[in-house]
Amino acid sequence: MFNAYIQDPKMLQNLNDLGYVSMTPIQRECIPLALEGKDLIAKAKTGSGKTAAFGLPLLMALHVNSMRIQSVVLCPTRELAEQVSAELRRLARFAHNIKIVTLCGGTRFVPQCISLEHGAHIVVGTPGRILQHLQEKTINFEHIKTLVLDEADRMLDMGFFEDIEKIIAKMPTKRQTLLFSATFPKEIEQMCKEVQHDALHVSIEEEKTTSSNIAQICYRVEPSEKEEALKGVLLESDAKSVIIFCKTKVGVSELQGYLVDEGFDALSLHGDLEQIDRDEHLLLFANGSAQILVATDLASRGLDIKDVEMVINYELPQTMEIYTHRIGRTGRMGKEGLAVSFVTPREESFFEELKEANFTFTCKSIGDLNPPLSQPKKALYITLCIDAGKKQKMRAGDILGTLTKDLGLSGSVIGKIDILEKFSYVAIERAYADKAFNGLCATTIKNRRFKIWKLG
Ligand code: ADP
Ligand code: MG
Repeated sequence: MFNAYIQDPKMLQNLNDLGYVSMTPIQRECIPLALEGKDLIAKAKTGSGKTAAFGLPLLMALHVNSMRIQSVVLCPTRELAEQVSAELRRLARFAHNIKIVTLCGGTRFVPQCISLEHGAHIVVGTPGRILQHLQEKTINFEHIKTLVLDEADRMLDMGFFEDIEKIIAKMPTKRQTLLFSATFPKEIEQMCKEVQHDALHVSIEEEKTTSSNIAQICYRVEPSEKEEALKGVLLESDAKSVIIFCKTKVGVSELQGYLVDEGFDALSLHGDLEQIDRDEHLLLFANGSAQILVATDLASRGLDIKDVEMVINYELPQTMEIYTHRIGRTGRMGKEGLAVSFVTPREESFFEELKEANFTFTCKSIGDLNPPLSQPKKALYITLCIDAGKKQKMRAGDILGTLTKDLGLSGSVIGKIDILEKFSYVAIERAYADKAFNGLCATTIKNRRFKIWKLG
């Protein structure tokens, strides 16, 4: 939500009036970084909401009482510049005194000079005309704090590179430069090196169309009914691997705590965990020692989590892109997938957006849930951790050999073996875990004794 980054109630009200309910993916990525003053290289196609992605941070950093030009937005064409100006003006409506001047060719020069003389905070325009103003000294860029290069690839295609260089030469070197482009040819990279400083890359993945092999189910619930409903869904499905998504770290740890109290094997994954714990939780989930992983989007982003039987949106995400990403964890490689979403009254409008975007849901009522009265089933495996890894030249065969030959376990009760840098993990069927644990504690592997822990 915008209110995570924007405090000014008038600005928020205006966004609301404009129908900006949730941030688009590029806005979600760019706004926090831009507010920190970072240089950005953002890849996003037209219509993705770039103008607000740079426009809101620009407006928030503006010193309205200083009648100096503080930001410049360069666009490839007059049409685009006018579009950006119009959008910035809409975004700036919450304050009556923000001045935005548009400077493009094909319009008379002198009226532009007059409007510049009245003072401006933000200049939007095409490189050619802006350079002309700089050369005529009808404009001053010595106090620029932020430069935006919008549709940079098109500006290069149109041969504006030299003009842009000359414009930049008139600006302070200590400034923020935000570059947006739909494509990334070599020339863009070169330009970034020249005009930016330690720029961060922000790229919005193309939205994949949802595969029809994922059944999407929704339950309309009141917030107070959610925990009970979740328990019902989990017990009824009996799925062996489930990822539950929450929006916040706090939400994740509370829900994971609740599930553990209710007897489920649930682990958490969020940004406040130590890296070693995150790795371990993922490993235990992947090898079948925990059936449930409760995660935030951020912590699970880009992670290669195996195909899961069921994804649960305990809270709906803020964008369609994230929704697509979340449910894509199930139904991989043509398998049947299941995605369950809880929708509270407050989430109804985003849910409508999902439906409009052609996600199809079967809506069920929590009254129809028919969970067995039994306790949750435990995960199939328990993991033993051994305090030796690659560094100690431990190999999966060494562990397997000790378990089968020395301790007499059948290979079929031994699950995945992971050898990490300093530790090794072996999954053992629950019923044999004690035997394996006691045996490993009492014996040696490769003629050495190791510390052993039982996890999960
Ligand atoms: P781009 O620069 O990528 O072409 P724009 O900034 O022009 O995208 O935005 C495209 C359209 O989406 C505009 O009509 C804009 O008002 C609208 N828009 C942008 N961000 C949002 C948002 N968060 N919620 C709703 N509409 C938005
Ligand atoms: Mg645009």
